[in-house]
Amino acid sequence: MARETPIRLEFTTSAPDVDHLPPSVSEVAFAGRSNVGKSSLINAVANRKDLAQVSRTPGRTRLLNVFTLGEQPVGSDGAARVVDLPGYGYANVPKHVRATWGPMIENYLLDREPLRMVLVLVDGEVGPTALDLGMLDWVRHSGIPHSVIATKHDKVRSAQRSKRKAEVASRCELEPRDVLWVSAAKGVNIDQLRSRMRSWLLD
Ligand code: GDP
Repeated sequence: MARETPIRLEFTTSAPDVDHLPPSVSEVAFAGRSNVGKSSLINAVANRKDLAQVSRTPGRTRLLNVFTLGEQPVGSDGAARVVDLPGYGYANVPKHVRATWGPMIENYLLDREPLRMVLVLVDGEVGPTALDLGMLDWVRHSGIPHSVIATKHDKVRSAQRSKRKAEVASRCELEPRDVLWVSAAKGVNIDQLRSRMRSWLLD
């Protein structure tokens, strides 16, 4: 398989809700609880060290952080974008903040017309949490196109991996082939993810 070149991404803006986003032709969103490895994965697909750090600067952790691709969809002069959704499940977030957070993510996912795919990240080392399964259930029932990406492939011993993958898939009510297991740290399956992102965003 030909190596997929990194996806060129530049930070564009942060928006408080879906109504304040710049126009896009196509979008892929990254969703996951805090610490799942979302920033590391965005950096890995772009082959950048600190691109997604912007998403965790004070004041931006609860916003929709928008990155624009350096490539444009075929036959279009509009932008393809990646949207980093706020990490859910921060332990010490006050209740009133959490109360606006969920609806903000939900409104984005329900109302964003150019959204082609939401990547639901689950930690391959710890397996899907109740929050992850809640998110998955919600996107499934809302009819939102989604893919489950397991993270931190390198953290599980090689002898355990196929069993772990089967467990993650089963808890997500999927077949193992439906889960892409990546490692941002070791570059495992990053090419595969880049290739899928290009087809969702650019074809
Ligand atoms: P986020 O909160 O979802 O953006 O998660 P981060 O990308 O900041 O990652 C959370 C922690 O997991 C950090 O300590 C990362 O270094 C670590 N991490 C993320 N991806 C990987 C991976 O592929 N392998 C390993 N070993 N650690 C990872």
